[in-house]
Amino acid sequence: MNNKGIIVVVSGFSGAGKGTLMKELLSRYDNYALSISATTRNPRPGEENGREYFFVTKDEFEKLIAEDGLVEYANYVGNYYGTPKKFVQEKLDQGKDVILEIEIQGALQIKKKFPQALLLFVMPPSVEELEKRLRGRGTETDEVIHGRLLRAKEEGQGIDEYDNIVINDNLDDCVKEMHEIIQSSHYTPERNREFIDTIKKQLSELN
Ligand code: 5GP
Repeated sequence: MNNKGIIVVVSGFSGAGKGTLMKELLSRYDNYALSISATTRNPRPGEENGREYFFVTKDEFEKLIAEDGLVEYANYVGNYYGTPKKFVQEKLDQGKDVILEIEIQGALQIKKKFPQALLLFVMPPSVEELEKRLRGRGTETDEVIHGRLLRAKEEGQGIDEYDNIVINDNLDDCVKEMHEIIQSSHYTPERNREFIDTIKKQLSELN
């Protein structure tokens, strides 16, 4: 059987509640490792370097790109965000499913590089609720919130590229659904090619 981990991309509009969802998923199940991205944006109050993100300068980020140290990267609302390569590979080898909480440009790069990655899109129950959550965070200026809503409009166009959507209405239900989707995706034929081919080969040798 294929007991190697899979890459799970989780995207969703800013304010859809991905952060909380991820925290809850990781605290409930030990199958997962959450990749920590590098970014050039400033830390928000309460964020710590090396916990939410590796906060780096533009020069440091560009050095990571030049060294081929990132699995993917993108520019989002004026800042760079990227996934460091080493952690992803290590955790996959340990059999963990590695979660990349990234935006759509990065998600599409991952899909191209790793066709077996699973792409999930977290939806808010409504646009009204999305705006409410964005404002409720209280750490962003009106201009940034407006920018994120416009960006959400754009990102909405890409949802069809994803494998599954999850609706974050009730946190508890959403975490369970997400876990079930990820675990069942381990059993698709394309993620078990080697196992299936071995069985087929053995069968073909029967007289
Ligand atoms: P925030 O500034 O709200 O923490 O993140 C902004 C957006 O960047 C979110 O949609 C988040 O998922 C995305 N993001 C975070 N890390 C990465 C990354 O490493 N690569 C890409 N492509 N997007 C990321």
